[in-house]
Amino acid sequence: MSSAKLVNIFYHTVSDDNIALPHITPLYKPKTLKQLISDLDYMLKHFSPVSAYEVLQHQRGEKTFNKPSFHLSFDDGLSEIYYCVMPVLLNKGIPATIFVNSKFVDNKDLFYRYKAALLSSAFKEALSVQYSEKERLDEIARKTNIDFGNFLHTRQPYLTTEQIKEMQNKGFTVGGHSAAHPNYAQISLDEQIRQTVESCNYVKENFNETKSFFAFPFSEHGASQAFFDKIYNDVDLTFGISALSTAQSGRHLGRINMEHCGKNARISILRARAVKFIKQFI
Ligand SMILES: [Zn+2]
Repeated sequence: MSSAKLVNIFYHTVSDDNIALPHITPLYKPKTLKQLISDLDYMLKHFSPVSAYEVLQHQRGEKTFNKPSFHLSFDDGLSEIYYCVMPVLLNKGIPATIFVNSKFVDNKDLFYRYKAALLSSAFKEALSVQYSEKERLDEIARKTNIDFGNFLHTRQPYLTTEQIKEMQNKGFTVGGHSAAHPNYAQISLDEQIRQTVESCNYVKENFNETKSFFAFPFSEHGASQAFFDKIYNDVDLTFGISALSTAQSGRHLGRINMEHCGKNARISILRARAVKFIKQFI
């Protein structure tokens, strides 16, 4: 059951000279495709890639990882994963999990933080709008003549159902990432459960995964024991952002945010290990 040999890492997307990400760059700086490739080469040198299903078997004590292993995932279901990242992963033989928001797949709607980012050049205060008041972003957009519907239609920031199915056929796993990406620390327990179950049921119904995987939107902060007790009726494994830590008898796994925790994979892994080491003593 030990997860000492398992490292979970995640990204959102990649940037490049040819990839404009006006909905993301005001929020944070994604890695370039070249940086991602260099991270993956480092990971492959020191770890074996494993799928979410293998992680589940490992956590249940049904499978032993003989070598240090890593599980790669991508949050938010962004289209660059299909166009830019998938060819690299297929070439390198790395399985990955994509965690999608049921309200955004097929470019049906846009994450409120992406709306804020698009508005931020004309209206900087947009970046401080919270989930509970997200309708304000639509009002600001109307006043400033920024058309989110047009952005969704022309830029296609999200993966489509068809692309996700093709990715599954090529070995990707799909998991839930909530319906509309709220901050769980700012919503009620009932709403946390509803958002989680809705996205996981959506994945089950549309993508026929035999097991249910869920990654918290933003982070697992704000999720109580009552939340975990309830959702483990529907979900097999949950993933957060707390690096190398595990909780809930091995059913909740931290992941390293590779876009935030260091300029390259070596530094991110070293940092995560240092934090884990220090935490033993406090
Ligand atoms: Zn997310």
